Amino acid sequence: MGIITGEIIEHWDDLEVTVIFTQEYEHAIRFFAAEIIATKITGPNFQADRGWTKKGASSNIDLVYDPHEAERYLKGSVKWDGCQNINFGNQDGDGYMHLCGSCGVEHLSQTLIRIFNRCGELMGDKVLRNTFPAKIR
Ligand SMILES: [Zn+2]
Repeated sequence: MGIITGEIIEHWDDLEVTVIFTQEYEHAIRFFAAEIIATKITGPNFQADRGWTKKGASSNIDLVYDPHEAERYLKGSVKWDGCQNINFGNQDGDGYMHLCGSCGVEHLSQTLIRIFNRCGELMGDKVLRNTFPAKIR
């Protein structure tokens, strides 16, 4: 397979995320992800106009209809050896992480889920109903 010229844009409607993939070098793929805020079905086969929060907007319903102009959710690159660099949040330098292999991604995901659940547990009966598991452990 050759290098990707231009970009590949994928709308993952089940996750409400749009991902733009680009490639500058043979051994790495870059990605930019933005959260889909609104979807309007415009035609057959789920043809749709999607809306994303405008980069730098003070309200998340200040929408743009081009994902290139959207607020960033995640940005990063995955290298041939499974190492990846990820930026979380809106600005460069925010929430930078280096993850090694799919096990690094899995570990982060599991850690975030466990932290989330534990925080819910620690708040006891103050939590919003159906937001946290009923009982952990
Ligand atoms: Zn690594």
